Amino acid sequence: MTNTVTIPSKLLPEDGRFGSGPSKIRPEQIQALDDGARNLLGTSHRQTPIKQVVASIREGLSNFFQVPDGYEIVLGNGGASTFWDIACASLITRKAAFGTYGSFSTKFAKSAQSAPFLEEPEIFAGEPGTYRLPELTEYVDTYCWAHNETSTGVAAPVRRIAGSKERGALTLIDATSAAGALPVDISQTDAYYFSPQKAFGSDGGLWVAVLSPAAIERAYGIAKSVDLPGVRRWIPPFLSLTSAIENSRKDQTLNTPAVATLVMMENQVRWLNDNGGLAWASARCAKSASLLYTWAEQSDYASPFVADKTARSNAVVTIDLDESINASQVVAVLRENGIVDTNGYRKLGRNQLRVGVFPSVEPADVTALIHCIDYVVAHL
Ligand SMILES: *Cc1c(COP(=O)(O)O)cnc(C)c1O
Repeated sequence: MTNTVTIPSKLLPEDGRFGSGPSKIRPEQIQALDDGARNLLGTSHRQTPIKQVVASIREGLSNFFQVPDGYEIVLGNGGASTFWDIACASLITRKAAFGTYGSFSTKFAKSAQSAPFLEEPEIFAGEPGTYRLPELTEYVDTYCWAHNETSTGVAAPVRRIAGSKERGALTLIDATSAAGALPVDISQTDAYYFSPQKAFGSDGGLWVAVLSPAAIERAYGIAKSVDLPGVRRWIPPFLSLTSAIENSRKDQTLNTPAVATLVMMENQVRWLNDNGGLAWASARCAKSASLLYTWAEQSDYASPFVADKTARSNAVVTIDLDESINASQVVAVLRENGIVDTNGYRKLGRNQLRVGVFPSVEPADVTALIHCIDYVVAHL
């Protein structure tokens, strides 16, 4: 079915990885496994050498996000999906409100709907390609939405719902594909959580959360409440946020982590901080994204999927193609030429390209990608 098109090698990007997660891992990160970490792989995570890697990640992220006093960097195994269930078990007291506008924001809401010890959550649903924040609601103790909805390429504002903090409610932000790529004021959040395989260009399998003092206090309060007579709540040990907090304070994880993931993540956090931190990273992503949006706006066969310019993501760029061009075919030909993971989100079901423009991606490679797409479309 695919008409093979060979893209001239001078047009090709230096690195053809444009996935929205897993995403490009810089060669230097892989080298770090062979150099510094050669003697760390296959050793105990409860001994000093690995604990130093975790300590460096925690300290590096505190600097990167310029976390306010009292906030802590907590981590554990399982990825952001695990943190949804941790939040249900360990952070939502009774009732949460969700903004849902795509696959990822909806999945967390579904977890809360299924937890038998929580009340039915309030869902504020938006159309794919837009965002919708939850609204201030009586008896809601936790407000949740995604900074960057990876399935649609929509970036939502991160600011507390007015009045929510005064009522003691927490704000939990899924930052999986935003953290490290989009600017954020951490003081507007109580948990800003993510996985390392997107902007932190590492392997998956870990979750990281920047937790506020209020979130930590909430987790301890809920953990204590399960001992009270008549409380029917289960906190599976793996989903216990208090035990993750206590292990993180010792630069460990509750159970055995992938050491390689930690090593590559540590290298990336240092690289980001050495280059100028979040201000540098977010400017670089904005530049890459604007190359794509500007091209699509001017192209006669492509257009940005997200109509509201202020909601267009600078981390994950979604581009609709004209019906006369089969996006799956373009994606397949790009792959044959070594340019991978440019497909749209499957369940969104649009004739679309989706490009991860995380900090590891060179803006010059984004320019090359654009030339390659034009070439493929002209030669199909
Ligand atoms: C990728 C992603 C997740 C899931 O991350 P896992 O590490 O696979 O659990 C959750 N939320 C968002 C916004 C994502 O982009």
